[in-house]
Amino acid sequence: MSGTGNGKMKDCGETPLTRPAARRGSYVADGWSGREEFRARVVEWAGKLGVDAKSIFIRPMSRKWASCSTAGTLSFNDELLDLPQELGDYVIVHELLHVAVPNHGKLWKSLMRAHLGEYDKMEDRLKLHYFQSSRVRHT
Ligand SMILES: [Zn+2]
Repeated sequence: MSGTGNGKMKDCGETPLTRPAARRGSYVADGWSGREEFRARVVEWAGKLGVDAKSIFIRPMSRKWASCSTAGTLSFNDELLDLPQELGDYVIVHELLHVAVPNHGKLWKSLMRAHLGEYDKMEDRLKLHYFQSSRVRHT
């Protein structure tokens, strides 16, 4: 199933899964030790994928998990630091591939599958985090 194939692209692409309000400090056992570990993983994946990641930013983003430009600038939502590493891996690879492949077409999908296996499951889990953390209201 195609999942998140809708929406318009900006620059070379973005990860269009959004979470408006942050709830920080939630502990996950398989989470990141901090932004340095996350950044190191981006560099590692960039090397593996042969992508030239010139600048890497980890910063608050209100509308998406990550974005990139064809110039090789990548930005990641710092809320990813509160999520399990494999979801971070998903967003990292998703975004790095967009530097070369600016859409979610066949090539992008086959590269995602080659590097992450059943990536659609991670996509679903990421959505779940989105709904759990920002959409749940106490009524
Ligand atoms: Zn994308």
